[in-house]
Amino acid sequence: MIKIGLTGSIGSGKTTVLNLLKDYGFLILNLDSEAKKLLKKNTIEYKKIVAFFGKNILNKDGEINKKILAEAIFSDPSKKKALENIIYPTLRTNINSILEGSKKPLAIIEGAVIIESGYYLKLDKTVLVVCDLSRRIKRSYKKFSFDDFRRRDKNQLNQAEKIKKSDFIINNNYGLKFLIPQIQLLMNFLKNIYSA
Ligand code: ATP
Repeated sequence: MIKIGLTGSIGSGKTTVLNLLKDYGFLILNLDSEAKKLLKKNTIEYKKIVAFFGKNILNKDGEINKKILAEAIFSDPSKKKALENIIYPTLRTNINSILEGSKKPLAIIEGAVIIESGYYLKLDKTVLVVCDLSRRIKRSYKKFSFDDFRRRDKNQLNQAEKIKKSDFIINNNYGLKFLIPQIQLLMNFLKNIYSA
């Protein structure tokens, strides 16, 4: 199976591009939603996270409050590392078993930190969605406050560094209709490489 990573900085348009790729019949995986499953109450990872971060990260119903957890890790790199050490091994096992259980010839794996985590080295190609900072801030306005955006963005590699490690770049600085021809170019790029 050919494994393609799809990544980009916060608010760059990863999910938007992923949605455009859904009609091609590939296996589609979202690392963030797979990771969120591990935070659910009473998983092994949940227990480890609560043991490490304390019960103050829990909602009244006992579920992990993702906003509080995010605040804890974005203000302390050692806590971020601790969370990654809890989540990543199971996440990788789960992703591998989904990939191995699929008969589809190509998988698109979307994730915010595919490059930062080193996961891109295990993939065949990395596709990066880029977008100017000001547009990313504007487009993320409903999801994150400006401070929240800056804090999260600072925790990621900058776009220039991500470009160096990527194989195909999608420019999402313009309207949605400008994504369509770029998706077609991506399809041609993959076809040329993998049918050869
Ligand atoms: P996050 O890092 O928060 O997961 P993301 O990289 O997945 O974000 P999207 O959720 O795809 O980015 O896009 C962010 C917002 O910008 C969404 O509301 C989306 O509808 C909007 N958006 C994406 N691309 C465009 C575009 N080309 N023109 C206008 N709005 C766009």
